[in-house]
Parts: sequence; structure tokens; C-alpha cells
Amino acid sequence: MSTQQVDVRAAESDPAESVDSFRARARAWIQENLERADPAAHIGVLRDEGADEDELAHVEHERTLQRKLFDAGFAGLCIPPEYGGQGLTTAHQRALNDEMTGYEYPARLQSPTFAPCVGVLMDFGTEEQKLEHIPAILRGEEIWMQFLSEPSGGSDVAAALTTAVRDGDEWVLNGSKIWTTGAWWSDWALCLARTNWDVPKHRGLTVFMLPLKAPGIEVHRIEMLSGSREFCQEYLTDVRVPDTDRVGQVDDGWKVGTRWMFHERMASNSPYTTLPGGGSRGGSRVTELFEVARDAGRLDDPISRDLLGEAKMLDVVKAALGERIGHGIASRSISDQSASIARLMSGLAATRMTSIGYEFTQASGAAWDSADGAVVERGTDYLMQQVSCIAGGTTEMARNAISERVLGMPREHTHDVGLAFRDVPKNRSAT
Ligand SMILES: Cc1cc2nc3c(=O)[nH]c(=O)nc-3n(C[C@H](O)[C@H](O)[C@H](O)COP(=O)(O)OP(=O)(O)OC[C@H]3O[C@@H](n4cnc5c(N)ncnc54)[C@H](O)[C@@H]3O)c2cc1C
Repeated sequence: MSTQQVDVRAAESDPAESVDSFRARARAWIQENLERADPAAHIGVLRDEGADEDELAHVEHERTLQRKLFDAGFAGLCIPPEYGGQGLTTAHQRALNDEMTGYEYPARLQSPTFAPCVGVLMDFGTEEQKLEHIPAILRGEEIWMQFLSEPSGGSDVAAALTTAVRDGDEWVLNGSKIWTTGAWWSDWALCLARTNWDVPKHRGLTVFMLPLKAPGIEVHRIEMLSGSREFCQEYLTDVRVPDTDRVGQVDDGWKVGTRWMFHERMASNSPYTTLPGGGSRGGSRVTELFEVARDAGRLDDPISRDLLGEAKMLDVVKAALGERIGHGIASRSISDQSASIARLMSGLAATRMTSIGYEFTQASGAAWDSADGAVVERGTDYLMQQVSCIAGGTTEMARNAISERVLGMPREHTHDVGLAFRDVPKNRSAT
């Protein structure tokens, strides 16, 4: 299989349209064609989304929004025209993100479909794979998931137990993946599987693309204490995948996986995602916090003002850091591993912001009334705040990557170096 690694730096080539002209065009189109986001809707993670029909209607609406952006030439700005994109630069994407702040946008499609999945397809997909899937993604016809974490653990991604065995022109996959957000309404997944048990763990992995409706894939939904049923666990039983749906070389899946995690860590600064300012669903995080303080009657309180200042500072520093790291990686002045710095900052900032929101609310943060405006559900968000430090690889793992691979500190001791994965001791749940 031929793979061609497309560099996101290509997106920095000379654009035909200046950023200023593009910005003006985007602003006019957005004002004319998109609704203002409802600040109370869908803010927060893993909340109870209500009835399944409502969630499916949101997904359909976001597919339509994506199609609208595509038809107007505002989808895939940093994707080359041959794959349905606009061939523009990250500066154009940032301008679009700014202009979309406060407007509805296809939030559920950004992560993981555009980052990391589109990033992985752009880097390792064959020409046929890219031509088949990237335009369909840009039109909102395909929503992608990532099958990385397994019930035996998610941090040690290279210890995947899901197995793929070659059978002629096909592969047969068996195993289980977990914590897949929204798999029940999605179309495709990138799946990391073990193709060789007789070599050390990083050397026996391969990546495949799977249609989620393929025979043998059972998607089970996990109900959280909050009532959310967004998380899924998938059971793969003799799932047959054609070799043409392999991404990257056989047993070289760690090369793909490393880049996959890079795109995941850079998701909020990815050239492929459209994330309105603040990165929240439809509005800036600081604006949301301002509304919480206002609705909690705390706006004139000097402590609240300090907290709002802190939130603003976090927002500004996070954005500046993300941009600097993005530029540094694009210009090769810093290593791709520096993406972990942005990932760490985004996890810590999001956790602190959630905590600030809860501090404003005092007692009504724990027991609210539907008339409490922006105060509603801050208590639930507070309980879920650690999510930002777990999803997309934990902040502990980001700290490991920064110390070992950015700062060059000694590597953590591991018991499996050089051992065939088959012989690595595993706990009972893994065997
Ligand atoms: C909102 C959300 C969405 C998610 N979406 C997806 C998804 O779409 N697809 C998917 O595949 N997964 C998804 N995940 C799963 C996520 O990637 C994993 O939860 C995460 O990688 C951690 O894996 P784990 O939960 O198995 O914890 P474990 O790997 O068991 O780790 C447990 C704890 O030990 C710490 N730890 C482990 N190893 C080390 C080490 N070497 N050094 C220091 N500390 C260590 C971890 O930081 C963590 O605190 C999602 C998670 C969340 C919260």
C-alpha cells in the first residue's frame, strides 16, 4: 500500500485570497446564513442530552450545517482542493474561527472527525482512501470516531489487545474498544489493532478504518451517573476488513498512532478543525463565566471580578500558547512532541475554568432551579471537571511526554522493553 505523508505545513503555502478579504467574506456569510448559538444549549461535557431522538436531531442538524459550510466554501480550509478543501492557510482558519464565535457550528463533527481522524487520513491515507473519505467528511456525510482505548487501559495505547489476523485480501478483527464518544450515531472509526504478538508492543500494531455498521461490530452505550449515554463500548467479533481499508503499513501502526496522538493533542489548534473563539460550543468560555456570575448575582463582588480576570488570563494564555506551539511545529523550530504542552495547558485551563464557574454559584451550584439561567448545571460540570484532563490522553501522560521527549529527561522505567508482546505480563482482565 502506498502512503503519502501530507504535511500540514503545505497549508502555509501562498493563498489566493488575503486573510482580510477572506475574513470580510466569511463575516458577511456567517451573519446572513448561521443562527446565533444558544448559550444555554449543549455547554458542558457528558451531560444528559435528553431523549435519543433529540440527540439524533442535533447530529442531523450539525451534518446540515457542515454541508452548508461546504457549499459556501468554508469547509476544509487547510485541505487541498483535490480532496474537496479550499487549499488556504491556518491564518484563514483562525479568521473563520474568530468570525464564528457566538454562532452555531457543527460541534460534534470537529473532534474526533476532523482532528485527529482527518489529520491521520491526510498523513497516511492512500490516494483512494483520501478521495473516498475526505470530501464525504467535508460534506457532513461521514462522522468518524477513534477506537484507541480498551477496557484493559487507555494510557498505554501501544498495549492494545484488539487483534487483526490476515485472511487473504481481508483482515479479521476481534476485541473491544471503550470510551468512544458518540459511536452510536457515527459512521466510521479508525481502529488500532495488534497484528503481531511476537515482537515488542510498539512494533506489532496496524491501523484500520471500519464502517461502524459492519457485521460483527456491536456498539453498547454506557450510562453515566449524570444520565449521559454518549460514551460507548464496542465489541468486535470476526469483523472483516478489506486490506484496502488498512491505514499505513502492516505492523507499523505505531508510526500512524504517534501522529494520530499528535493530531489529537493539537485538536484545539488543528488546521482541520473549525472551533469558534473560546473553543466552547458556540461562545467564548469567559463569556459563559460572565453570564454565570451575572445570573448568580455576583458580578459586583470583587472576588468574582478577580476570578473573571483569572479566567480571561487563562483563555488568552492558552490561545497564545496554542498558536505559538502550532507555529513552532509548522516551522519545525520545535518538535511535534511539543503538542503535549498545548494539551496539558488546555486540560488544566478547562478544569480551572469549570471550577471558577462553580465558585460563582455557591449553593445554587449544588441545587439549582430551571429559572437560574447560566447557573443551571454548573454543579454537574464541576463533578465532571476532571474529564478535560483525561480525554485525549491524560495530563499525566502529557507531563511524561514533555519531560521525556521535549526536555530530554530520563525515560520512565518500563518492564516490557525488548519483550515480545505475547510474553509481557498482563493482568487478568487483559487475557
Ligand atoms: C470525555 C472523554 C472522551 C473520550 N473519548 C475517547 C474516544 O473517543 N476514543 C477512545 O479511544 N478513548 C476515549 N476516551 C478515553 C481516554 O482516552 C482514556 O480514558 C485515557 O487515555 C486514559 O485511559 P484509562 O481511562 O484507561 O486510564 P488508565 O490508562 O488506566 O490510567 C489510569 C490513571 O493512571 C495514570 N497513568 C497511567 N499510566 C501512567 C504513567 N505511565 N505515568 C503516569 N500516570 C499514568 C493515568 O494518567 C490515569 O490517571 C475518552 C475519555 C473521556 C474522558
